[in-house]
Amino acid sequence: MATANNTVHDRVEQARVELTPTQLAVGLALVAALGFALLFVQEPMVHDSMHNFRHAAGITCH
Ligand SMILES: [Zn+2]
Repeated sequence: MATANNTVHDRVEQARVELTPTQLAVGLALVAALGFALLFVQEPMVHDSMHNFRHAAGITCH
């Protein structure tokens, strides 16, 4: 009885140790994806503001 409980406990402990780095990797991947999404969303806005600034300064580009 005690040995069976110990094996189950050991398995749970092992699973927890193996799960933590996986969760860390998933969290890092999510943060990286969010950063990339923010870059892709912000890049056209920065380009547009620079475009408008060029036109306001009297420089035609098209
Ligand atoms: Zn233009």
